Amino acid sequence: MKVHACQHHHHPRGPAGAGDLYYPGLGNGGYNARHYDLDLKVDPVGNQVQGRATMEAAATENLDTFNLDFHGCQVDGVLVNGQPATFAREEDELVITPAEPLRQGEDFRVAVDYSGSPQAKTSVCSPFLVGWKHSSHGIVVDSQPDGAQTWLPVNDHPRDKATYSMKVEVPKPFVVAANGSLLGIEDRGENQAFSFATRDPMASYLATVNVGNYVLDQQEGAAVPIRNYFPPELLEKARYDFGRTPEMMEFFAERFGPYPFENYGVIVVNDPDAVSGAMETQTLSLFEPGLVTGDRANEDVVAHELAHHWFGNLVSVSQWRDLWLHEGFASYAEWLWLEHTEGVEALDKKAAKTRDWLERQPGITIGEPPKDDLFNGQVYIKGALALHELRKKVGDEAFFSGCRAYLTRHAGEGAVNPTIEDLQKVMEENSGQQLGGFFQDWLYKAELPA
Ligand SMILES: [Zn+2]
Repeated sequence: MKVHACQHHHHPRGPAGAGDLYYPGLGNGGYNARHYDLDLKVDPVGNQVQGRATMEAAATENLDTFNLDFHGCQVDGVLVNGQPATFAREEDELVITPAEPLRQGEDFRVAVDYSGSPQAKTSVCSPFLVGWKHSSHGIVVDSQPDGAQTWLPVNDHPRDKATYSMKVEVPKPFVVAANGSLLGIEDRGENQAFSFATRDPMASYLATVNVGNYVLDQQEGAAVPIRNYFPPELLEKARYDFGRTPEMMEFFAERFGPYPFENYGVIVVNDPDAVSGAMETQTLSLFEPGLVTGDRANEDVVAHELAHHWFGNLVSVSQWRDLWLHEGFASYAEWLWLEHTEGVEALDKKAAKTRDWLERQPGITIGEPPKDDLFNGQVYIKGALALHELRKKVGDEAFFSGCRAYLTRHAGEGAVNPTIEDLQKVMEENSGQQLGGFFQDWLYKAELPA
């Protein structure tokens, strides 16, 4: 009797999700990505992209089939370890079946050739657009939390960080700005190709590539190089508004530990509609042009995005539900900068005004924000006040040593992304206090604690 092979052979399929409790479809399981290499040719006028994304990864289980997240564009071919693989598109899942199954522990390489016109998509967490945004000004990539998949096939969840290298060819005189270090610009006649690489792993939503008319402006005086990309018409105002970045980096380094990346800088995007506010894209924060005023009126936002490089970028959530670990700290860092520059009275006034305002709002549980409104303002505002109250409860020494211990424990090779419980644990260890009641009251109750 001829028996079909399936009866004797298990066909392991990697999970089509990374285990996110709020958004189970995000990311994938079955492998760990280590590196993405992008080699893209981009037409920023017609919004056309053609190129190859190569992911180097390690299988964490036996895999006959595994997924990448990918929205839009056309997949022209997939190679796994150099062999043509079969693939299928199932909505935003790219399902890949290698010619040879992968074994647990095996390193593998997936090359996806793709082309087309990338489009931003509506996020799963809020009704806003994320990812690749094209306009007459060029291209901006702003992806939190699930927009990276609009421009590269990726394991789109912060649980699976990887390093990136990107080579992006554009027509002259467009400039490309991306994460990490600019390695070089290759002349290709009518076009030029900009090469970037990140030294450190990065969550997919923090990857950015921007194409437009920008001036590259170096800034001196910090522990790492700072390079900013400004639209030429905003150059003078932006230089002033971001002028205290080196001082700010030093201030945060004293509180939180050394700045964790190889360089820093901002890009003030030249498209008023592409970015709403600002975004902590790793080593190259995005700012909407409206934030540049020439009088440092929005220096709180400058502090916020920089502080995310410790809280959010170096140490990233395990669950999107725990976004407060990013936004509460980045918002409280604004208050710390205010205290540093204007004194403790300014901080106390800020805390009192915030409490007043919150008392007039319907509260939310900031440790469990609404799934369809993840970025609710209270995660930021009530989140900052919660940290201020925690600092008062445990004292400055325990609070800041707790911050540093939390960052050290959850950063680097082999570290596990934290949950809010992990922060509670480290703060309890550093203060010798039981904080269960405090965390319960501030994070898991809608009403404001007295
Ligand atoms: Zn933020």
